[in-house]
Order: sequence, then C-alpha cells, then structure tokens
Amino acid sequence: MKSFKPYEIHLEKRPEWWKVRLPEIKEQLKLVQKGRVETILRSKEISAVYYNEKEYPPPKVRWPTAAGSGNPDSFKTSGYEPQGVMIIAGVHGAEPEGVAAVLNLLQLLETGKDLRGKERPFLLDLLNRYRLTLIPCCNPDGRKLSPDHMKGVSPEEFHRISQGVWLDGSTIGWAKSKEFFPLPLDKVSFPGGYPNRDGYNIMHDCAPGKLYTGEAKAILALAEKCQPDLFLNLHSQEHESILCRPGTFDYAGNIRRGNELSELNWAAFRNAGFPASVPKGSSQSLNLNTAAVMLTGTLAMTYESTTDCGLSFDQLLESHYLMLETVLADGLRKRFAPRNER
Ligand SMILES: [Zn+2]
Repeated sequence: MKSFKPYEIHLEKRPEWWKVRLPEIKEQLKLVQKGRVETILRSKEISAVYYNEKEYPPPKVRWPTAAGSGNPDSFKTSGYEPQGVMIIAGVHGAEPEGVAAVLNLLQLLETGKDLRGKERPFLLDLLNRYRLTLIPCCNPDGRKLSPDHMKGVSPEEFHRISQGVWLDGSTIGWAKSKEFFPLPLDKVSFPGGYPNRDGYNIMHDCAPGKLYTGEAKAILALAEKCQPDLFLNLHSQEHESILCRPGTFDYAGNIRRGNELSELNWAAFRNAGFPASVPKGSSQSLNLNTAAVMLTGTLAMTYESTTDCGLSFDQLLESHYLMLETVLADGLRKRFAPRNER
C-alpha cells in the first residue's frame, strides 16, 4: 500500500493543552478511571469511552423492525432515563477541533477541570445527566497525516490538507473528492486527511447493505448497541460554525427537533459573539448520520466548527462547550429523538 508523509506546513504554535495527535489521544485514554475505555476497532486502534453506563438487555428486535411495530420503544431497552448521547470526533482526520474538544471533555469528566486546568461546572453537570459514549478520533489514518490545527491556513491550503493533492500538484478540492470512491491513491501526491488510508471517506461510506470501511462499521455497531438519543458528529470547516440541521432523509420528528436545536445554537453563538452561520436548508447527503438514524432512530446531527474565523484556541474550545451546553440543556427540557411520537 502506498504510504504518505504528514502534510508539511508552518503554523502558529498550538498551546500545550491542544492535544490532537495519536500518541496524545492514547495518553489521555490511559487516564480514564471514572469512565470505561473500550477498543472498538483494533486494526485502527479506535476506542470509545463510556460514562454513566447503564446495564440493559440487548433488544429483542432491531430498530427498523421495532419502528414498524406498534411499540417502537421495544428497541430501546436502555430506557429514556437518562438519555444516551454519543459524541464522535475526527471522522475526517484533517478536522482536529472536535478531537481537541473531546479530549478536554474527558479531562473535565475525570477531574472537574479541562486540559487547561479550567472548570466548567455547568457543562460538567449537564454531561453527568446523560449516558455518554465518546469516540475521540474515528479516523486515525487521516489524523496521522494532518496538522494540529488549521488556524491561519489559506482556503487553497485548507483543501490541499483536507482533500489532498493530485500528482501534477493541483488541488483535489472538497466536492470533487466525493467523485472518487475510493480516492485513487496512485494518482495523488497527498491524499488529504479527509479519507482513511485506503482512500475511503468514512462519513460517506454508508450505503445500507454494503459498508467498505471498518471504521463506519465499528461506529454504527456501537451506535446500535448504545441506542443513543442524540448522535453528535463533530466536524470542522473554514467557514463560520454551525450545528447543521438534519438531512432530508430522516424522520419528520427528528428534522423538527434538530431544526430547533440548530436554531437555538445559532442564537446562543450570536449572543456570545461567536461566528455562526444562519441555519437554513437541508442537506441531501446520505451519510454516517443517516445510517445511525436507520439503525437506531436517533437524532443525528453534525456540528461544523470553524477552524479559524479569527478565534483563539481557547475560543475554538469554548465554542464547542457552548454548543454542548445549549444542546444538552435543551435535551433535559425535551427528549432528543421522538421515537414513539411519530
Ligand atoms: Zn468533515
């Protein structure tokens, strides 16, 4: 298999607490004591961490069957109290902001302070009110090739780092990269941190009945087991931050609930002075979120953090905190996935 070297670029020095490299993720996982760490894909060393775990029997039926029955709750053997929240980061390895956020959440959950040594009692209290399943990095292959952050990176360079570079030196680009499945690695000088080492995009390799990536299989198997009420997929982009509305291919109830949360998050960001895009439209994309919905009926949402927009490292982290506080506080008021209210 063709191997590639990490992308070379000179960037602003990151603070010590901005941990996003594979050995740093491993070290952070070793410190987990209150939660439980489980390797979910040994070949890629992908781990999940559980907090406030709950014993529950395996469902007698899978969600697609339960959903068509008179009792959709028959799938949900974990019950609704507390609700389950699954947070996954680094599906696109070039997008490290979510990875940094999840490692800080782990430290917060373990010690009451994040990796900066700062307390965030409101967030910690909210996190403790849910069953949590956290995957700090879903695409170690892409992460390994990618820089620690994207602050100060030009739009052109952003796409070279993320989606890669053809052999002739031209940039592959974002939407263009999706025309290849997998990306033909013999035709690139750098594959970008977007796909895994086989050139597959884990986010979009999700056609029911045939999954090509072990990563997507492992994430979805975990989702089916944990029965999350909210499946939150952390990504980042060069533009302003946005908690994206659910895609078109979803239950009407999930779309309504997701749109509410998206709107709330936008208002919270606007009040806090964080750069945020106005939520509008719905993506037609069929992706990992769609598959999680099909398997579990969960409310699946993607958060796109800005990689820059003039924010400091602290602000990049704190904008993740604000998004989580907004969403988790509202989840206590009203259930995330209205599985039996359709
Ligand atoms: Zn992404």
